Amino acid sequence: MDRLAIVVPCYNEEEVLKLASKALRDVLEDLVQKGKVAEDSFILFVNDGSRDRTWELIEEEHAAYPVRVQGVKLAGNVGHQFALTAGLVTAKDMSDVTISIDADLQDDVDVIEEMVDKFHAGNDIVYGVRKERRTDTFFKRTSAQAFYKLMHLMGVKTVYNHADFRLMSRRAVEEFSKYKETNLFLRGMMPLIGYRTDSVYYDRKERAAGESKYPLKKMLALAFNGISSFSVKPISLILSLGLFVIFISVIMLIYALFSYFSGHVVAGWTSLIVSVWFLGGLQLLAIGMVGLYIGKIYMEVKQRPRYNIEKILSGEELPSGQDGSTRGEDR
Ligand code: UDP
Ligand code: MG
Repeated sequence: MDRLAIVVPCYNEEEVLKLASKALRDVLEDLVQKGKVAEDSFILFVNDGSRDRTWELIEEEHAAYPVRVQGVKLAGNVGHQFALTAGLVTAKDMSDVTISIDADLQDDVDVIEEMVDKFHAGNDIVYGVRKERRTDTFFKRTSAQAFYKLMHLMGVKTVYNHADFRLMSRRAVEEFSKYKETNLFLRGMMPLIGYRTDSVYYDRKERAAGESKYPLKKMLALAFNGISSFSVKPISLILSLGLFVIFISVIMLIYALFSYFSGHVVAGWTSLIVSVWFLGGLQLLAIGMVGLYIGKIYMEVKQRPRYNIEKILSGEELPSGQDGSTRGEDR
């Protein structure tokens, strides 16, 4: 039977913590009853340097439910993406499968069962995808949509309308932990892992209590980080712009010569205007060229895994953990 860990990053969540704990414990109890997850499945709360009573509440819950509720206390606030990563990496050594969910119960805990079913059906990653954004404000909805469009345009593969509510098998988290980059954008990284994936759909609710910890400033930072961590397209745009301006300079050359010979110009204008366009284009082109190399260096320093072997068919015994059989035989 697979041991499930539900990883919950928490930053100043004293208002919802007990609610979240209760809701998730109920889900776990139900799954255990139905024999879908192991008896000792648990919730792992990650306290992301909260300044309120969040950690005390986690300790209380752990004291009351020593098996069901576990906690990790980070030394300071590192932000949602890092807190979640800390939780997943900690949980992977204690469990066979993880589910990450926000503390505010905006994501529907009732689809967790469906996620687990899809895991048992052989999927390594199951994405929680929002059906619609009825509860979001008009602004949040349109800005989010623009964000996904822009990401797509920049060539970053993401799952549309999926945030960080997702199931991951142990081997998926293990593969993920090989990504050593510090600019984390989890949603963009998961599709790089590979393996079979699936999605479950749900309606996103209002926050159960408390306020959003993602003000516009943090949202924009996340969006910018997402693009700049996964795409060097902005650099190649400079290169294309340089080529385009050089092309314009040729047109300007023809136009300027034409004006010159028809005698309508002030002395010196022709050579000046042609040089301005040509030099401008040349500079952009040069910056773009330098940028291409920087883009390559950027991709190199990330040292991302280049591939992920799922299975090998050969006569020899493979050391355990390398043949995809780490998930237990009883499934
Ligand atoms: N969070 C965190 N560290 C932070 C900010 C947020 O761990 O610095 C957690 C927060 O407690 C919540 C999740 O990240 O569980 C998502 O935050 P929130 O619900 O405020 O974002 P929103 O749903 O408004 O985008
Ligand atoms: Mg939220």
